[in-house]
Amino acid sequence: MALSRHHAASSKPLSIKELGSQAGQFDFSPNVALQRWIRAARMLLTEAALCEQDGNLQMAYLYLVRHADLVLERLPRHPDYRDPHFKQDISEAQRAVQKNFHKLDAWRPEIVRDYERYESAMDRRNAEKQRVQREREVTRQSADQSRRRSGAFDDDVDHLFDDGGRSLNAAYTFKSSATTEAGEPLRTVMLPTSLRPTFLNLAHPNTARNLETCGILCGTVIANALFINHLIIPDQQSSSDTCDTTPEGDAALFDFCDSKDLLVCGWIHTHPTQSCFLSSRDLHTSSGYQIMMPEAIAIVCAPRHTPEWGVFRLTAPPGLQAVLGCRQQGTFHPHAETDLYTDALRPGHVVEGKGLEFEVVDLRKAVN
Ligand SMILES: [Zn+2]
Ligand SMILES: [Zn+2]
Repeated sequence: MALSRHHAASSKPLSIKELGSQAGQFDFSPNVALQRWIRAARMLLTEAALCEQDGNLQMAYLYLVRHADLVLERLPRHPDYRDPHFKQDISEAQRAVQKNFHKLDAWRPEIVRDYERYESAMDRRNAEKQRVQREREVTRQSADQSRRRSGAFDDDVDHLFDDGGRSLNAAYTFKSSATTEAGEPLRTVMLPTSLRPTFLNLAHPNTARNLETCGILCGTVIANALFINHLIIPDQQSSSDTCDTTPEGDAALFDFCDSKDLLVCGWIHTHPTQSCFLSSRDLHTSSGYQIMMPEAIAIVCAPRHTPEWGVFRLTAPPGLQAVLGCRQQGTFHPHAETDLYTDALRPGHVVEGKGLEFEVVDLRKAVN
């Protein structure tokens, strides 16, 4: 299970015990660079902040417990954990955990109360249903009448959480249609229609010189859907077949995201001469985004070919797991498995939205 996962949990209030157990359910791979995990930890804090703003305390709670688990229990198992290069980042993450423990303590009573209210409402509803059932048996009422009555009870429970002007109801009722190959729900990703042409314009000087360009898709959560609202062009190094964010560019990107509470939802890049597909190297890049967020996507623009663009994600399983386990680094190295990635547009995981606004942030030091 990936780090950023809360959809299954959002269908009803959970107990503190259930939240704690779900928080611990994620795959930690020491093959993934420690830097990536440190970024992933920061993104969990952003997910928690967005849930808190949305009034969804139980999911904010889950993310903070998961953050504490990652920082205190998992990171120490990474082979680079003692590398002095990461000392400052790890200390910062540990300080965040200490601070969050106070938040968790403060939230716990409200989460318990919501859970108990829901449970007792369900008890009342079940008791009422049984009473109706008994009544029906005695009076032999028509099937139509009893259907109308049980419908009314469903409404009662649905409205239980619609109180105090908070948006709990939306958080609890969202149902996503797309899933991973393992059946885990994927939040819908809303992609502004004009993002691609805007990116291609920005990339044009590179494309004309047969150099790739990459951009990072960042966004926020609204009613449990991911809205891409920023296209960030990080500082990067590119060739005709590759494009990599520089280490400084990566740091600047995540600092920017932290400052704006943005989630990294994937990436977009050009293939100036190649067709529309994910190279082995692209698969590795995408796996880094998908461990942070299972919904993360890769958009490829191949202006000289048909189709001239595509939206993909690694299959999970087998794609994500196979790529995370692969130690090769070449641009076009072979992978033994097939079906490593899949179309993300058609199953409804990604939806293009006309008129959705987004901001372009160019963090390149020099346009290459
Ligand atoms: Zn590529
Ligand atoms: Zn590989």
